[in-house]
Amino acid sequence: MPSMKDHIAATVENLREELLTLSHDIHATPELGWQEHRAARWQKELLEKYGFAVEIPFCGMETAFRAAAPYNSPNGVRIALLSEYDALDGVGHACGHNIIAAGAVGAAIALSETMKCRGIPGEVFVFGTPAEETAGGKIPMADSGVFDGFTCALMIHPATQNLIARHGLAAQQVEAEFFGRAAHSSSPSDGINALTSLRALFHGIDSLSQTWTNESKINGIITAGGTASNVIPEYARASFLVRAGKKKTLLKIFDDLDRMARSAALLTGAEYKLTGAAIYAERYPNLALGEAFKANMEPLGVTMNYPDYTAQVGSSDIGNVSLVVPAIHEYLAIAEPGEVVAHHESFRRAAASPRGDEAVILAAKGLAMTALDVLTDGDLRARIDREFNEKVRPNQC
Ligand SMILES: [Zn+2]
Ligand SMILES: [Zn+2]
Repeated sequence: MPSMKDHIAATVENLREELLTLSHDIHATPELGWQEHRAARWQKELLEKYGFAVEIPFCGMETAFRAAAPYNSPNGVRIALLSEYDALDGVGHACGHNIIAAGAVGAAIALSETMKCRGIPGEVFVFGTPAEETAGGKIPMADSGVFDGFTCALMIHPATQNLIARHGLAAQQVEAEFFGRAAHSSSPSDGINALTSLRALFHGIDSLSQTWTNESKINGIITAGGTASNVIPEYARASFLVRAGKKKTLLKIFDDLDRMARSAALLTGAEYKLTGAAIYAERYPNLALGEAFKANMEPLGVTMNYPDYTAQVGSSDIGNVSLVVPAIHEYLAIAEPGEVVAHHESFRRAAASPRGDEAVILAAKGLAMTALDVLTDGDLRARIDREFNEKVRPNQC
């Protein structure tokens, strides 16, 4: 009898055509965050074909879903496989989320079939998580307790390197608005210049941001600053992207921004409004899980490497998941470094290339095998938990 992992690999190979069709269909039909209706439906249809019970909409989101495997037998071990499928405005699937979706669905089906065949207890779920690029569908899921009671959450992301244990920064989109009074520019004293307040906010940020911790950074653009040079602007608006090492730090930076905006408004007598979007939390990659994934990828011919910890990193809503449950978000190469650029047409092409397709198959195998390890290895589960309790729990806020 073949080993359980050989069974997984063979099952994924049998699914190859269906998984690549799913990946290519999503890739060819890019849908922005909250509009991923077809991508969600195609995943639902394939999962249902293999007996999964799919709940959609889920967690108050039209294009989110939860799919429960057909042979689940509760024993306290619960695996979450995470799917993403939103595209980018103007460049389609230039982040390759079609690969994430097909890989997660493939892993879940292969794992479920193997659990049935070998009588392995435990529970497996796929979570369809929309709008990763824009609003972060995982944030309300993590906040509302969707992952409570789960042993781990697993996903991959296409990249130009094979990496485990890469960190991510916390991030928040902040909108600042000032409301003044219009006047002809020949009599500015009759008006309240909203743009003057907005400029004061930018100067305040330049002065105060040096007090923020090392990894903190902010970038702002003016999105409204008046309409004609002979009119005192009655309205001004800016959009900021703030990043920091931790969500806790972002909460403090928001307080700083609020104080600066308030004083900038006082300067001219304008009114102000500061709006912070949901925070993408920093990421805590579970190394015990990552090492298990690395060990499973090795016999598949893929050497997983460790990241350059001094490199600049971005943000993703997997961070919010990793704060509430042990999680991995490992990277699989679909092109060589320098060959393609993320969020660019070159990456979009790679996401449906033969190497992109191979990443779908490798992701399905590697994730399913790692989930199998979690289902069957109590020592591994203990290491995963210990690491989570030591490294992550103290940062929950
Ligand atoms: Zn992206
Ligand atoms: Zn992405």
